[in-house]
Amino acid sequence: GIRSLLDLEKVAVLGHGNGGIVYKVHHKKNNSFYALKVLNFDRNGIGFRQPPTLEAEILKRVVDSPYIVRCHAVFYDHANVTPTLQTKGVSGDLSFVMEYMEGGSLHDILQQHRRLPEEVICVLAKSVLEGLNYLHGMNIVHRDIKPSNLLVNEKGEVKIADFGVSHVVEGRFEANDMNAGTCAYMSPERFDLERWGGENVDEFVGDVWSLGVVMLECLLGHFPLIGPQQRPDWATLMCAICFGERLEMPEKASEEFQSFVRRCLEKDWRKRGTVLELLKHPFVKRNSCCSNKVMRDYVLCR
Ligand code: ADP
Ligand code: MG
Repeated sequence: GIRSLLDLEKVAVLGHGNGGIVYKVHHKKNNSFYALKVLNFDRNGIGFRQPPTLEAEILKRVVDSPYIVRCHAVFYDHANVTPTLQTKGVSGDLSFVMEYMEGGSLHDILQQHRRLPEEVICVLAKSVLEGLNYLHGMNIVHRDIKPSNLLVNEKGEVKIADFGVSHVVEGRFEANDMNAGTCAYMSPERFDLERWGGENVDEFVGDVWSLGVVMLECLLGHFPLIGPQQRPDWATLMCAICFGERLEMPEKASEEFQSFVRRCLEKDWRKRGTVLELLKHPFVKRNSCCSNKVMRDYVLCR
């Protein structure tokens, strides 16, 4: 196990986000690499993110699914205990040691390949559904499913990461909360406060909506709900998500792909496909879908 941050050496920066900085680190004794996410309490007190301790609590719980990025250790208040990291420019109040995902995020992959073939999207969809099924079974809604939070390792496995805005649902339905997640991937009910603001919605199917947006983006090679020339500001996105008819479905896409994505992008959350329904959908029942090799070959060998 990883007993101390003192054993870790910073190798590179993997990413910056709202939450903090993620480093690639080397553990000398194990001779293995990990990802270290460092959060600062002051930077997280802005309001749009919950206290970072909740992210830690969730990460500590979601450790036995192959579809969730595994957290190996959480360190609190390490400012005083990590002189070696500090001298290397790493400081913060809370950090997570996570499994290192060599293939990077789906965002990086899309930057490189622009679009992905259906066989690859199929593996992605199946893995995200399995991950969501696990999380939802523990009453956790992710609320920020998007390309930069879906990571791939060298085996071609796809895993869900970043519980920075996730939420533990107490009852089946909860008051609508718009203040979380990235609005481009947010479901209509999360915006449509006039209609749902006072009512309680099923938060779990919000994650299904986001998966649909991600899949369409992968196939088309651009964000799907607004035209490529439109500016993706908040108002444009909100109108497109809540009221837009425009669902550009590529003609070349298979019947199964189209029907799967339509079930995800059903505007009315009460009619939208559930994770359990979609896990049985013909699109993810194809043979190729069972193989991470498809993903590995595509991501690592091209
Ligand atoms: P934030 O809350 O700031 O969005 P994330 O946890 O999403 O932080 O991490 C930010 C980025 O860092 C990711 O988009 C990804 O590129 C990279 N990253 C995060 N975790 C890992 C990991 N375990 N392995 C490899 N890269 C990672
Ligand atoms: Mg993120």
